[in-house]
Amino acid sequence: VFIKIESIQPSGSFKSRGVGYLIRQAILRAPQGAPLHFYSSSGGNAGLACVTAAQMLGYPATVVVPMTTKPSMIAKIRAAGATEVIQIGDSWLEADTYLREDILEQDSSGVYVPPFDHPDIWAGNATLAGEIKKQMPDGDQPDAVVTCVGGGGLLAGLAQGLEECYARPPYLLAIETVGCESLYQSAKAGRLITLDRITSLATSLGARRVAEKAFEYAQKPYVKPMTVTDADAAEACWRFADDERILVELACGAAISPVYTGMLRKALPHMTAESKVVVIVCGGANVSMQQLVEYRDMFHLEERGCMANTDVRNVHMASEGHN
Ligand SMILES: *Cc1c(COP(=O)(O)O)cnc(C)c1O
Repeated sequence: VFIKIESIQPSGSFKSRGVGYLIRQAILRAPQGAPLHFYSSSGGNAGLACVTAAQMLGYPATVVVPMTTKPSMIAKIRAAGATEVIQIGDSWLEADTYLREDILEQDSSGVYVPPFDHPDIWAGNATLAGEIKKQMPDGDQPDAVVTCVGGGGLLAGLAQGLEECYARPPYLLAIETVGCESLYQSAKAGRLITLDRITSLATSLGARRVAEKAFEYAQKPYVKPMTVTDADAAEACWRFADDERILVELACGAAISPVYTGMLRKALPHMTAESKVVVIVCGGANVSMQQLVEYRDMFHLEERGCMANTDVRNVHMASEGHN
């Protein structure tokens, strides 16, 4: 099992890839010296990635977050250098609508930075695949790649990149938590569906409807949409912190959990001890030690045997491009 560590990206998650690429492209496309101001609608990591990338490149950024965004996350976005953090609306959809219809209308230098549904976001996220190809020992092709799915920008980018890198792409397990399984339900129904509401605690995966592009990829035979519970994801966060000394949020735990629960073996029965699986450790800033302790109590992780050592062997793949 190989882990692609995205938690050490500048913003703490893989979002630095897609969002960073989109921002860089916007700057390259604008007349030289044009006064751009970047605007993100995101309850968390996309907003943080937007401010981080814009600041690094010398531009201001404003983030609109829904009321559900925690004060700790807002503090992180402010500390990264946001011009302003505006909190409005019950969910991402309302915050995003307010940004597009009220704020962007009033700023002619404003650039909209969507979190997942844009070709530049996919192109930036696709760089993951090129790095995996380069970093795999002996040039081996992975037999499977495991990732999580929110709005599907990560999935679409990965699938795009894997198809560019490999004639026969590896299996791509697309994991959602129960309660925000918008891709899984769409794949089952054979059409793009919208969930009524989000009930999972993995808020970074909480898109009620995935990008059309992600749904298209999900219909390819090598892509396997699947679900895990919040408890499974929390267990994975806890054990991963113990095993690898890396703290990741619940959304990321969802992608790691198939390795710990044995679901990986069940999903891909033809895998052997020699098979190579790459887990995208997408990271996320929405976590703390205190949060893990709360998960431990909420999901009775002690009773699930989480406090024992595990024997998962990993080869680390450092993140390369910082966009
Ligand atoms: C945004 C995010 C996701 C989901 O990515 P999508 O492109 O929306 O599918 C997963 N994990 C973390 C940590 C994220 O920030």
